[in-house]
Amino acid sequence: MRPEKMNYFDSVIPNASASIKSMKDQGKKFVGFYCVFAPQELIVAAGAVPVTLCATKEEPIADGEKHLPRNFCPLIKSSYGFAITEKCAFFNNSEFIIGETTCDGKKKMFELMESFKPMVVLEVPQSAKGETQKQFWRSEVARCRDEVEKRLGVTITDAQMKGAISELNAQRALMRELASLNTANPALLSGLDMLKVTWARNFTFDRATFNANVKELIAELKAMKAKGEGAFPKTAKRIIVTGVPTGIGAEKVLKVIEESGAAVVYIENCSGMKQYLDDVATSGSPLDAIADKYLSTPCSCMSPNTGRLELLANLAKEYHADGIVDITWVGCHTYNVESRVLREYLAKHGGVPLLQIETDYSQGDLGQIRTRIEAVLEMIRK
Ligand code: SF4
Ligand code: SF4
Repeated sequence: MRPEKMNYFDSVIPNASASIKSMKDQGKKFVGFYCVFAPQELIVAAGAVPVTLCATKEEPIADGEKHLPRNFCPLIKSSYGFAITEKCAFFNNSEFIIGETTCDGKKKMFELMESFKPMVVLEVPQSAKGETQKQFWRSEVARCRDEVEKRLGVTITDAQMKGAISELNAQRALMRELASLNTANPALLSGLDMLKVTWARNFTFDRATFNANVKELIAELKAMKAKGEGAFPKTAKRIIVTGVPTGIGAEKVLKVIEESGAAVVYIENCSGMKQYLDDVATSGSPLDAIADKYLSTPCSCMSPNTGRLELLANLAKEYHADGIVDITWVGCHTYNVESRVLREYLAKHGGVPLLQIETDYSQGDLGQIRTRIEAVLEMIRK
């Protein structure tokens, strides 16, 4: 069964464009970003609103390909297509964009974007290990704070940063509580609905309203659990989804998994839980604490990225997963290479099987994806 509270989350995305326009008219300032490495606390501390930018629809890809190579990943081409055609209300209404040099395609896209939108591009180290990398990233986050202050005409104090840390930590804790309910059997929330909630969070500009609705959803799910109800039968095979971001518009693999009768019990990627994993430390320098939290993001752009391997082996146990589906966009070299490494690691640490699906935003390979997923589900014994 589907919780009634999902009706609220269904309504968030259709209303988000109108909501940003009306808040902008009331004098609110928005700062756009694409990636989990963007330090959102700095935007909140400055009194502005962080907004995730559109990058998950196929429609603007043809426009993106006018300036970018066709063999770039669809996420980059979609982001750029939305930006140059001015079809993303969130991009259009942002004062400036915080970009990052996580992968080659994105950093070159940001160079092009700089010609028509004010940008602050943060240089991300290639590794999260080592004092040099840590200090360098802290200096980049300090530069980001200076740029946010300059561009918004404000001063960001330590007290404001601490306030933003506490607000966003509270929201991360709430999202972790919600996700953890799916350790139950039967799973309480479908993967598609979990994605809808994480996506709604990106487009709800009033944090208190969003949090209140998540709390009500958690209460409803707990009541379902007490009655032995769930989103799937108890016998449904349990799948964790990992890999590239797969937001609304690019959720076709999740849809196929659940249409095939399996339950997506956890979404590890950046459209799911990756950004909610760790809190920002509340002691010491708030600026350094913000920097350290973001540097620990287990993204394949890091070399090595052992944190993701360990995380998935642990999640497989915690969520009683029967399999992991690793989605990689065509043209995303880092996640593609890491898929084999991840499969081998999982084979040695718990033995949960991994299926890699390499695809893009088109619907042309849906039949093939369905056949592969059904074959793997058939092989998994319960
Ligand atoms: S996968 Fe890596 S580069 Fe992409 S949004 Fe997540 S953290 Fe950023
Ligand atoms: S999916 Fe891969 S190639 Fe695409 S933006 Fe993310 S890290 Fe870069």
